[in-house]
Amino acid sequence: MVTTWPRDFPGLGTGAQRLAKHLSDMTDGRIQVQYFAAGERVGAFDSFDEVASGNAQAYHAADYYWKGKHPGWAYFTSVPFGLTYTEMNAWIRFGGGQQLWDKLAANYGLKCVMAGNTGVQMGGWFNKEINSSDDLKGLKMRIPGLGGDVMAKLGASPVSLPGGQIYENLVSGAIDATEWVGPWNDSFMKFYEAAKFYYYPGMHEPGSMLSFGMNASWWGKLTKSDQAAIEAAAAMENDVMMAEYNAKNGAALARLLTDHGVKLRKFNDDVYDSFGEASAEVFEAARAHSPLANEIHQSFLAARKNVGGWTKISDQAYLAQRNRVLEV
Ligand code: CA
Repeated sequence: MVTTWPRDFPGLGTGAQRLAKHLSDMTDGRIQVQYFAAGERVGAFDSFDEVASGNAQAYHAADYYWKGKHPGWAYFTSVPFGLTYTEMNAWIRFGGGQQLWDKLAANYGLKCVMAGNTGVQMGGWFNKEINSSDDLKGLKMRIPGLGGDVMAKLGASPVSLPGGQIYENLVSGAIDATEWVGPWNDSFMKFYEAAKFYYYPGMHEPGSMLSFGMNASWWGKLTKSDQAAIEAAAAMENDVMMAEYNAKNGAALARLLTDHGVKLRKFNDDVYDSFGEASAEVFEAARAHSPLANEIHQSFLAARKNVGGWTKISDQAYLAQRNRVLEV
């Protein structure tokens, strides 16, 4: 099992390592996982080819890292103005998402299942205030996936770097800004040493799903029992990782603000409107790529409308009232 995460990196790395251990435990050792963090066997972004070729049997990764191979991959991590954790689970399990993910993955000899989620991500770290989309022009920012394409439309220069390489690039000035995940993860990265303005909410990754991607022919030869164990272990990690992020982000944010002088800022409506307009163009380009990309896009849109419509009068309406009455 190869991954795109540094060894022991909280949440993403430790989650993948926990999944590896559960796989072994749940199969009484029939599946013995040899775990390789990013760079220990192959570089983070080489994980895809390593598994597709059969050199390794599985990866734990964010599938949007493979959007250069096909834009459809981006939808199976998170896309701008996309789905939250609960909405994503609804789409994948009951909205046709898994079937389309299978169809895309099969073209590369892969089989992928949900195996973790970060929840809504922060908008990123900037060394100046972002008061209008003009402030994004010329900015060199680490931001992968279709979110990076949105930034490019607004005049920024997006780059995709694995987690282990962001800090050095930010400190050296090779990049001006970066997004990563959220307060718990970002505090370990010490981005505050180079950029003080911490923006929310991120439009680019509102519920990033992590993927356990397997070599399809290896998967196909497993017993039903081992396949079921893998599905169960991955589903458990999908749930447990989200719980850990939600449990730890709040306290981590408080420490960033009090101990490290981080300045918390909210993207204003004008900036968000610009994100919206640029996203529409990015989605047009993504769906024009191929019939399969269009099929994935249309299925995603239907989920956002149907599931999102329910979110609006359930979670969103309730939270607005709870937090208004109690001033949470
Ligand atoms: Ca991110």
